[in-house]
Amino acid sequence: MKTIRLKEGKERSLQRRHPWVFESAVAKGSADPGETVRVESHAGQFLAWAAFSPSSRIRARVWSFDEHQRIDAGWIAHLIQQAISARSWFDIQSNGMRLVHGESDGLPGLIVDRYHDTLVAQFTSCGSERFKSVIADALLSATGLTRLYERSDASVRSLEGLPEVTGWLRGQGPVELQIREHDWQLTLDIAEGHKTGFYLDQRDSRHRFAQHARHRGYRKVLNCFCYTGGFTVAALAGGAEHVTSIDSSGAALERARANVQLNGFDLNRASFMDADVNASLRAFIAQGESFDAIVLDPPKFAPTAAHAERAARAYKDLNRLAFKLLVPGGELFTYSCSGGISADLFHKIVASAGMDAGVDAFISERLQGAPDHPMTVLFPEGEYLKGLVVVKKS
Ligand code: SAH
Repeated sequence: MKTIRLKEGKERSLQRRHPWVFESAVAKGSADPGETVRVESHAGQFLAWAAFSPSSRIRARVWSFDEHQRIDAGWIAHLIQQAISARSWFDIQSNGMRLVHGESDGLPGLIVDRYHDTLVAQFTSCGSERFKSVIADALLSATGLTRLYERSDASVRSLEGLPEVTGWLRGQGPVELQIREHDWQLTLDIAEGHKTGFYLDQRDSRHRFAQHARHRGYRKVLNCFCYTGGFTVAALAGGAEHVTSIDSSGAALERARANVQLNGFDLNRASFMDADVNASLRAFIAQGESFDAIVLDPPKFAPTAAHAERAARAYKDLNRLAFKLLVPGGELFTYSCSGGISADLFHKIVASAGMDAGVDAFISERLQGAPDHPMTVLFPEGEYLKGLVVVKKS
């Protein structure tokens, strides 16, 4: 077994059970990509068993902090079983569910989503890559399913020196799937869609949006960055009279339209714009448009804190424009999925956007990712998705 020796003082984060070893913390030692290494303090004390990533700044990711634990197929299968069992505690109103959420489930570099009878996995570290076959078998045996599709085309793989890989890993079947979420159905494409095909993390927010649409009696709704129309369908299910959906991806919009039809809603209640959101918001303002509710769910502007400043400006601008378009009493569902923007900072950005727009507003709810995308105490980086419901004062 190869050993990685840390620099003096660099053992502290591992002693607090944080699962990453940065390149800058390593004094000596090396191993093959994904090989399990023994990580020791400068004084030679055991700290963890970890998967080595020779070309990444995150040089090793922890599999276990227990010196007596063997890192083998049995241990990986145990971690997968544990992640799946933990989900039985959560009230998930869908047959689309995240089963493994990386570090938060003790499985660094592994994402697994279940869409009804099909699993989709993303391997984003040398460690999960090396155990791929073990992981695939463990997933099938823990779920009783037979189909597993691989979507290892996330850009972070290049940081690990890993090539893009997509395709069936176990079994075969259609790549266009249908899931049930709350009271509606949605189709998705696991081969061509974003991430593993769908944004499961916004499930609870879509439910909340449908409830608000019903209770507040939304008439005109604007869904910005709509992707395949999850919030659009939610608003229509909640009784909204008309929803305008904007996205810059034609393929996503096509599916959004199909999802509206699939749920039996009249297409006259929906319009779709293949356009840039920022420019569209400005055009709506110029035309004197207004909306009862607006969703802003942009892509990740700040993957890390280093991008926070520029991202903050972009978020502020979007929120400022949205505030201007809301009717008095109108509601803004606004999100950031940037790991580099904390919930606190996001709150400040939205507040200052309101100030710039010259409006006052109640922040009526704080929202976060659905519980199958858990945040854990030991891995604060797991908190990425944050949202606010803001009600413009009359
Ligand atoms: N709310 C969606 C997920 C949004 S993902 C859901 O519930 O499923 C972000 C979306 O923003 C993507 O579909 C992407 O195509 C779109 N997008 C990115 N930049 C954009 C821009 N400048 N203007 C319009 N859409 C954009």
